Amino acid sequence: EALDKLIDLKGSIRVFCRVRPSISTNYFMTKSPVTVEQEKIVVRALGIKKEFSVDRVFDQESTQEDVFQEVKPILRSALDGHNVCILAYGQTGTGKTYTMEGTNGKLGIVPRAIQELFSHASQDSSSTYSFSISMLEVYMGSVKDLLAPRQPLFRSTECNTASIISILATKSGSVEVEGLTDVAIQDLKKANQWYCRGKRARLTRITIKRSGGPTEELSKLWLVDLGGSERLLKTGASGLTMDEGKAINLSLSALGDVIAALRRKRSHVPYRNSKLTQILSDSLGDGSKVLMVVHISPSDDDIGETVCSLSFAKRAR
Ligand code: ADP
Ligand code: MG
Repeated sequence: EALDKLIDLKGSIRVFCRVRPSISTNYFMTKSPVTVEQEKIVVRALGIKKEFSVDRVFDQESTQEDVFQEVKPILRSALDGHNVCILAYGQTGTGKTYTMEGTNGKLGIVPRAIQELFSHASQDSSSTYSFSISMLEVYMGSVKDLLAPRQPLFRSTECNTASIISILATKSGSVEVEGLTDVAIQDLKKANQWYCRGKRARLTRITIKRSGGPTEELSKLWLVDLGGSERLLKTGASGLTMDEGKAINLSLSALGDVIAALRRKRSHVPYRNSKLTQILSDSLGDGSKVLMVVHISPSDDDIGETVCSLSFAKRAR
């Protein structure tokens, strides 16, 4: 409860920044233009110094455990009935997937969060929890269901995704993705099996149902590995087509506009400008908790993108 109050005090949108370790093997590597000073990131280039403040900075030495410690309080909010959205933002190659999914046993936020939910459920004797999982992808304006039952016809191919037709807003203000597969997960083992099956999905949703009190509470925990934020000019370098690049840019700028509007308490929040913001619309605004982890590169070559990503972060705060 104290943790909850702390989060409320700081507002419902928090922004973290994580700096990827340098991958250069050049012994004579120039000094990184990115330095960290407490909760501030300082970028120096061409004699200009820019400072960006965020709620928490994870430097190059930070571990997956360090990051997860800061995520835990927000998971508690989800267990307490709030919708929660954890988003990984940044240029391709800066560690979004590393943070969310992890690699080589260095588990990221998603598998740790799943573990934490089950562990909390087993310890809390005053409530009963049930969890279900959905995994999806928004690709060039269409929504794909990664956990859809495999079509017998396509059994021998990778094609086991199904397209979703519509996103509906219900009277109570919640959002339903029509036809989206939502699998009940009874235990951690089952949860991990389903998570592995849909792993390449960029959006994972855990639905939490809590009963035991006077009312039954339903909440959504969204874990989102966003598309690379690099500007269109550079998408060639990341292997995307022009159209893919445009679609990603569109949903990221729509997301930025939504968060900026919420931050400034605007009466109109432009959720309808992208599929991504429509799907997340009941988990970004009133009563929800949002955590954006902005990823940046320590490299000289990426300085332009780094400043863009930090400017995006600034707009969200
Ligand atoms: P993105 O998903 O943003 O494109 P990745 O998560 O794929 O980036 O990261 C690119 C590479 O850098 C991967 O090989 C990943 O394992 C490595 N990497 C990223 N962040 C870290 C980190 N904090 N510590 C160690 N390795 C990292
Ligand atoms: Mg990735």
